[in-house]
Amino acid sequence: MSGDSASRGPVAVVGAGPVGLTAALVLARTGVPVTLLESRETLATESRASTFHPSTLDLLDELGVAAALRRQGRTVDRVQWRDLDGLVHAELDYSVLSGHTGHPYRLHVEQARLTPLLLAELHATGLADIRFGATVTGAEDGGDGVRLRTRDAAGRTTVTRHPYVLAADGSRSRLRELAGLPGTAEEYPDYALRVVTGTPLDELVPGLAALAYVRDARASFSALGMPDHWRLIFRIPRGTDRDAVLAPDAVRARVEQALPGAAGRAVRVADAHTYRLARFLLPRYRAGRVLFAGDAAHLTSTAGGLNMNCGLHDAVETGRALAAVLRGDAQGETALDAALERRRSVVETAVIPRSEARTAGLDRAAELPSRLASLRRTAEDPHAAADYLFKASLLDVAPRPLKGEAHADLVSQAHR
Ligand SMILES: Cc1cc2nc3c(=O)[nH]c(=O)nc-3n(C[C@H](O)[C@H](O)[C@H](O)COP(=O)(O)OP(=O)(O)OC[C@H]3O[C@@H](n4cnc5c(N)ncnc54)[C@H](O)[C@@H]3O)c2cc1C
Repeated sequence: MSGDSASRGPVAVVGAGPVGLTAALVLARTGVPVTLLESRETLATESRASTFHPSTLDLLDELGVAAALRRQGRTVDRVQWRDLDGLVHAELDYSVLSGHTGHPYRLHVEQARLTPLLLAELHATGLADIRFGATVTGAEDGGDGVRLRTRDAAGRTTVTRHPYVLAADGSRSRLRELAGLPGTAEEYPDYALRVVTGTPLDELVPGLAALAYVRDARASFSALGMPDHWRLIFRIPRGTDRDAVLAPDAVRARVEQALPGAAGRAVRVADAHTYRLARFLLPRYRAGRVLFAGDAAHLTSTAGGLNMNCGLHDAVETGRALAAVLRGDAQGETALDAALERRRSVVETAVIPRSEARTAGLDRAAELPSRLASLRRTAEDPHAAADYLFKASLLDVAPRPLKGEAHADLVSQAHR
């Protein structure tokens, strides 16, 4: 059965991941009614991104969800580089960012904790038509608007018209395909192995920070302290057989080598899995009246935890610019194009290079001493330390929270 209904909202947002929900909330908070279409029956609960940078927390604060997110997360006040013998080569304290952000720390919490908060706020605006089990299968741009074809869980098709569509439908974006844009990602030479343990590693390994990069010729990996578990993330050369890497004995041996400080004390492995690391950047973030944000537009290695953060920044900047167009601002379309181009350029000039720099040369043991010495010099110079964390947190390229009346208005709506 199929039906053709009138436009449900000026803007359709496709995808209720963190990016689509944020964009929908930004639009609704500025008075723009939105239709949110999500193919799943409920919000995703898988473990994916877990890092929220200061720049993102500032923006989530403006949307009224940062405090609730923080209550569920682990606040990380320093980043540390150490070796397998427990020697700390460099440590940077997030307090150096105090003058630049309202949140001088990183927050470790699952992205699946953020999405319900955003959804609740979106409901509360009364301006959102939220459809789960609604898969977008077609999009035709007629020049003055987009006809979206959506299939529901019962197989019924609906056609709606929208002056703009914001595609936040993830890395396998159907909207990108429908618009005829390229979508092939380039895989990195390594994939990631993520080992999860409920053992409190900071009680076993003296001085281990909740964000620690172990850099050692014998093994390099990252350790992330979450509210109720720890993650160890290893890079594995792409040709390596995944089953062999995931064999319980192989995982245990890798963990024992990685945590000699915990020798003799059992580290219980709760889970181990691998995921691919790939790079992708859309050549343009717009196809007529379809705009792209988040993983639909860009992918990077998970090193540095930048991709979702950048996607949330896309959602805020694009949402604000689109709201201005719909308000009838004279320069609205020009500003929207500029915002989309800026978002793309941020990925090209900051997100991808910074993420890649985080793990570059890890396989070249001879370079390790000079890299660690350079990090030590950074840690010893307060200006260099602030600059490093400012950039690692994307504070130099993120949209800024609105100030003054506009900000007060958003906050009062968030807490009404
Ligand atoms: C293992 C792992 C670890 C990661 N760690 C980090 C990290 O630490 N820091 C970081 O910043 N990033 C990290 N990322 C990346 C992060 O998870 C993504 O960047 C983020 O989820 C992107 O959000 P999104 O809303 O753009 O897309 P998604 O979260 O993928 O959401 C897209 C939504 O669109 C829906 N959808 C798709 N097609 C359609 C359709 N045709 N119609 C309707 N709905 C549709 C999907 O069901 C989905 O709900 C990690 C990713 C992985 C896989």
